[in-house]
Amino acid sequence: MKLYGNGVLITLNSKDPVIKDGAILIDDDIIKDYGKTESLKRKYPKAEYLDVEGKVIMPGMINSHMHFYSTFARGMDLKTDIPPQNFEEILEKLWWRLDETMNSEDIYYSTLYALIDSIRNGTTTIFDHHASYGYIESSLDVIAEAVTKSNLRANLSYEISDRHGKEKSKKAIEENKRFINRTKSLNNDFITPSIGLHASFTLEDETLKEVAELAESTNTPMHFHAAEGAIDEINSRKRGYKNLADRLEKLNILKKDSLAIHGVHLSEAEYQILAENDVYLIHNPESNMGNAVGAINLKKALDKDLTVGLGTDGYTTDMFESINVADLLQKHDNSDPNLGGDDIRKIVFENNRKIAQKYFDKKLGIIEKNAPADVIMLDYKAPTPINKDNYFYHVVFGFNGGLVDTTIVNGNVLMENQEVKVLDYEKTIQKCQKQARDFWKRF
Ligand SMILES: [Zn+2]
Repeated sequence: MKLYGNGVLITLNSKDPVIKDGAILIDDDIIKDYGKTESLKRKYPKAEYLDVEGKVIMPGMINSHMHFYSTFARGMDLKTDIPPQNFEEILEKLWWRLDETMNSEDIYYSTLYALIDSIRNGTTTIFDHHASYGYIESSLDVIAEAVTKSNLRANLSYEISDRHGKEKSKKAIEENKRFINRTKSLNNDFITPSIGLHASFTLEDETLKEVAELAESTNTPMHFHAAEGAIDEINSRKRGYKNLADRLEKLNILKKDSLAIHGVHLSEAEYQILAENDVYLIHNPESNMGNAVGAINLKKALDKDLTVGLGTDGYTTDMFESINVADLLQKHDNSDPNLGGDDIRKIVFENNRKIAQKYFDKKLGIIEKNAPADVIMLDYKAPTPINKDNYFYHVVFGFNGGLVDTTIVNGNVLMENQEVKVLDYEKTIQKCQKQARDFWKRF
């Protein structure tokens, strides 16, 4: 048993959200106890005591939408005379070309890098959405192998799309199906499946019907981009549907607990349809700003009782960065300095936890007795008092991934004193860089 004491404990549980001079007792894979340092020291005299010297101790962060495969795009030359002018051109000139170029080594090393980066930024549970149309079959096994080595938790899916033709979309459906069956033999404490779909506008009705049947027969929720740009709405109306939500609902894609990503162009009525179907909406503020697709009206979505979570869409693995941008975006976009704030706290700390608990059937994202020991520590020395009423503003204005000092998942110490303990850190980074150089030549 390890007793980490003399910290500022942010539990994210409603009973005692912030405990000063706090401590946490980790016994094997669970949080056995938490409270004031002195009282826990007296209660557990045999536990190994570790003084965290005033660091923040809190639950590991949850990233509800990520693309590991985006790693090698960083700084890449698109080799095109005219740069992409809008969202659709960004997809065509960058992402769809990139995913067709990937081989298994590219997938493996881009995933490893993103996992290491997640550990360094204190992100311990990740929902990944994968595409590699040059290497479809068993691509999710390649990712699962990297995730297993990292000791992080991940939900994995392959983005089905008709954009590269019918034959490939069939293979993509098969890959999801194969992996769902495969996960039955994996350790599901760490890896779970969902069924990935790219986006409505690159999917035919016939394909969506097939996917809905797979979801039903395997009882697996779906993970799809929805109304990221205006094109999903325009395309749905062209096909004779009232709007995107109408299309997805009629084709049985709005399965309970599924993840709809972005929702920038959804109407309030569509938010309501998602909420009624118990589908979660994942907000990715940096990505929306970067692609210049607009911003969701978070207040209106939450008012419809929609469970909105927070992801990064591959922009970063640092959820603290995403929190900061999410807060600013709502204020800026609505010209209202009172927006953001508590709504952002709710989506990142309450709703991401709710979603992760559904997919992993564990009490993730919280410090309480008998919850899995997914814990991070940040070397943050607050300039002002920190308490239950204001801790989130310390998160927004003071926290960032670079402050994360220790990352623990299921009781395994993955990083300590900013030293990554898994995945053979230095060697892996070198291999990633070598693989990226090779990939860039083929792009
Ligand atoms: Zn995405």
